[in-house]
Amino acid sequence: MNIDELKKIIRDVQDFPKKGIIFKDITTLLKEPSAFESSIKLLLKECEKHSVDKVLGIESRGFIFGAPIANKLNAGFIPVRKPGKLPAETISETYELEYGTDSIEIHKDAINPGDKVVIIDDLLATGGTAQAACNLVDKCGGEPVLVAFLIELKFLNGRAKLKGRNVFTLIDF
Ligand code: AMP
Repeated sequence: MNIDELKKIIRDVQDFPKKGIIFKDITTLLKEPSAFESSIKLLLKECEKHSVDKVLGIESRGFIFGAPIANKLNAGFIPVRKPGKLPAETISETYELEYGTDSIEIHKDAINPGDKVVIIDDLLATGGTAQAACNLVDKCGGEPVLVAFLIELKFLNGRAKLKGRNVFTLIDF
């Protein structure tokens, strides 16, 4: 499938999780084997332009794309999770939401100093989550070589928060 076909297969769900939000539902893409395969292949093509030691997936939909890409790149997979989910010692990063704050965590020993890291999530909205993930990689002494997303919501200008980072998105809305 090409990018236009992938774009069409993503479902809009109005007013989820709250009124005024149009949620980009990728379950309609994931259940279609050729769409899932194409999205992995196209993201992988971009990742292959870099030398990569670790692929970091952001909970939870970042895991779906991050894990197969790590496997294909022969790189390690690192889960970045919501607070309290990772069992060993963690480093955390707090970021701003529209109302209030949120945090994400990584295992302290997940990244070795100097590791080249690709960060993957399904969707770039305001960029707060991905910025926090980049900060976690920085804190661990890793080098974020690419931040890759399946979808970008252009009108939210999430790239502003990722200024100076190498950002790739497959499908724009
Ligand atoms: P942000 O930190 O604002 O860039 O938000 C990115 C995270 O929130 C990603 O993990 C997305 O899965 C999720 N997200 C934000 N907005 C949407 C949306 N409209 N549709 C689906 N997921 C969203």
